[in-house]
Formats: sequence, structure tokens, C-alpha cells
Amino acid sequence: MSLPPWRRVDNPHYRTTQHEDAYQQSSIPLPPGLDRDYQWSGNANYPPPGLIRATMPKAISEIEYLRERRGRSVILDNSDISLFGDLAEYLESGYDMHGNHIMCDLTCVICCGNKLEMPTCVSPPRTPEEDAKTEPLCVLPCGHFFGAYCIEKWISTCRDEDRCSDCPVCRFPLLYEYCGHEVKLRHHDPRFRRPGQLPLTIPEGGCVPAYCRWCRVDYVKDLAHQMAQVVYPKDVPESAFFSPRSFGPSDFSELRGIIRSNMLSAFYHAEDAFDHW
Ligand SMILES: [Zn+2]
Ligand SMILES: [Zn+2]
Ligand SMILES: [Zn+2]
Repeated sequence: MSLPPWRRVDNPHYRTTQHEDAYQQSSIPLPPGLDRDYQWSGNANYPPPGLIRATMPKAISEIEYLRERRGRSVILDNSDISLFGDLAEYLESGYDMHGNHIMCDLTCVICCGNKLEMPTCVSPPRTPEEDAKTEPLCVLPCGHFFGAYCIEKWISTCRDEDRCSDCPVCRFPLLYEYCGHEVKLRHHDPRFRRPGQLPLTIPEGGCVPAYCRWCRVDYVKDLAHQMAQVVYPKDVPESAFFSPRSFGPSDFSELRGIIRSNMLSAFYHAEDAFDHW
């Protein structure tokens, strides 16, 4: 007698009387905990060994959920976070997008010994020895971060060797391209929020402008001086811009004063809004 096609399954665990002998002799391993004489009772509460029954998750109250969520914490270290942009999302809330409590156990990659200072919400428990050897976190425009003491030492070594200071990891030059001034190191103070103390890093969409802030101020002052000359088109000395009230007829000096203060306040507003390096 030939088997109907649906029973001709090439499955060694499929028992039929015809296949019994072949099955007993087969060398194919059984699931763990199952021997060759096992017969399932058919009781759904006692499934065959090796099988896992799916159960519906039980609904819990929101309070319980929050409590459970708080208990689940993930500790991230330097192998998980190498750029400040990845760290920034946890610094303020202490949670990731899945609701896991994130703790960041980060070490300075230059000395490989000192821990980096973290806000309390993401700070993992540390031994007193580790606590005594922490370094403030210092961020470069390329997004790499270091212990402040070590990166300062690195920059001063660059200066001593009379070469352009750069990021020790990716060699990003710490230089404003056009004016040639050095990009100042920015520290992250864990007591405060990021806005106002750290601009966006390049991987996060930030940029290093061509001129440093002081050269940008000089540029705007120069522009304001040129405009003052348009209003008072004689040979206005440079100092007329700095003390507009003491030069020329009073009505023009008033006007120059207004132009200067408006241009500078527009400039400082723009600076604050974009938070440049
Ligand atoms: Zn260090
Ligand atoms: Zn870098
Ligand atoms: Zn400059």
C-alpha cells in the first residue's frame, strides 16, 4: 500500500507503523529530554519536553510598568558610544527610545584609565577610587570626546611641536579655516543642559565656521563702520564707530549709534540662535 502524498513527509519524527522500524534505527538526534519511547499524553498543560508554549503577556498597570522600566538598566561603555551625538540623547533624560534606563560608564580614550564625568541620571555606581580619578568631558567638533586633562595635554603637545592641533582619533583639524585661529575646547558641565554650552557636532549636523567668533565680531564691526560712513559720508575715522556720539553733528552721530547697536544686536542674536563652534 502506498501512502497518500500528504503523509509522505520526509520527517524522521513522524511516526507511522510502516516507518516505526526505520525510525527506531535512525541516528537523527531527538529534541532534548525526549526519548524514543516517549508518548505524549495529549494534555495541553504538559507539552512534550523541548517545546515551549507561548503565553499571552499579562496586562499590568502603568505604575507597575514604570517601576519595571526603572529597574531595567543598560550600562553602555566606550565600545557602544564613540561619538558625542550618540551620548547626547541619554544625557538629559537618562532613557533610550525603548524606555530602558541608560547608564554610561565611559572612560577617557587617551589615558584609558580615568572615567568621564556624567550627569547623575546616567552615572553608573563608581568606587571611591574611580570617583577620585574622573575627568570632565570635553567634546571636539568631529564628535569625539575625551577627558579634559588629557586632551588639553594633547593640544599643548601639538603647540609645542608647532603643528596644527587636531583630534587624536580622526585628525580633524581644530582650526578656523580662514582666520587660522584655534577652535576652543568645549567642556560638558554635567550639572547643566546641553543648549548654550555645547553646539552640535559635525555628525549631528553642526559645522565649524570659516572664522572664529572674535573675527566674526570684527567683521560685523567693520561692516557697521562702512554703513556709518554711508550715513555720514565724510572721512569718518575708525573710532567714530566705537564712540559714535563724539563725532560729527549730533543728528548723524545718533544715527551711527543706532546702526551700530542694531547691527551688533542682530549679530549676537544670530550667534546665539546657531550656537556655532
Ligand atoms: Zn584621560
Ligand atoms: Zn575626531
Ligand atoms: Zn579668528
